[in-house]
Amino acid sequence: MNSVKIIIAGPRGRMGSEAVKMVTNTEHFELVAVVDHKHDGHMLSDIDGFHSIKNVPIYATIEKTLQSVECDVLIDLTTPEVGMHHARTALQYNVRPVVGTTGFTKADLEELDRICQEKKLGCIIAPNFALGAVLMMKFSQMAAKYFNDIEIIELHHDQKLDAPSGTAVKTAEMMAAVREFKEQGHPDEKETINGARGAEFNGMHIHSVRLPGLVAHQQVLFGSDGQTLSIRHDSYNRASFMSGVKIAVETVMKQDIFVYGLENILE
Ligand code: NAP
Repeated sequence: MNSVKIIIAGPRGRMGSEAVKMVTNTEHFELVAVVDHKHDGHMLSDIDGFHSIKNVPIYATIEKTLQSVECDVLIDLTTPEVGMHHARTALQYNVRPVVGTTGFTKADLEELDRICQEKKLGCIIAPNFALGAVLMMKFSQMAAKYFNDIEIIELHHDQKLDAPSGTAVKTAEMMAAVREFKEQGHPDEKETINGARGAEFNGMHIHSVRLPGLVAHQQVLFGSDGQTLSIRHDSYNRASFMSGVKIAVETVMKQDIFVYGLENILE
């Protein structure tokens, strides 16, 4: 297999630094540059934590990066607005995006889908790259066929910008596709404190917990007469996401369509 030439946006971040490790430790991947708005003109080896990674230039913008190096795939792990700009620009330069950044809007996803169709290029966006989380979503979708009373509790570290999490929204969407619609809770229920029943999605409720010490966790609770079912996944560190990122990079090279969700590329 030819080596896949990769650029990473957000290399100093919690996810980005794991991605740098994963890419540089994978034989058939080559890290050709990184996008870091604060270290233009430096080398990655100048940055604390990356001293042993040689010959990787840093550019402040995606445009400058794509004009300066030849590459196949962009891995973006930044913030929603930046990530959207990066993904859109990469596709314009015929580079395939693998995006872990969460918080993209429906309009963002539709726009990227449209560009992929025009350019006949692959792009993979996954709100959760942990394989266990993808299975948790799949198992939840299976259960939602039989249990239509469902509450999602998602728990994340307190530096997370978006709520509910992309994973929770994706899980709710997958369950809504097979669940017999039901407006949950008592028809006369009233919140005595705003938000007590969480966010509402298609009659289901989503609760977002933010605490230092947590990484990324989700529990999906199903209830019916005399029984409950809980499906839970826990990511204890960010290395848990990297096997999924690796699969996505390998897969995006063979695809010419837009894909949202890792579950759509797992065989
Ligand atoms: P983080 O630690 O805050 O990292 C984000 C990085 O992006 C920071 O280093 C930031 O640099 C950098 N950045 C911001 N603007 C930039 C720009 N214009 N150019 C280049 N770099 C830029 O956040 P994180 O925990 O790694 O999470 C990153 C994203 O991944 C979030 O959207 C998060 O929700 C998502 N996430 C996804 C998964 C998944 O499996 N898909 C799992 C966990 C997290 P400065 O801080 O210096 O501005």
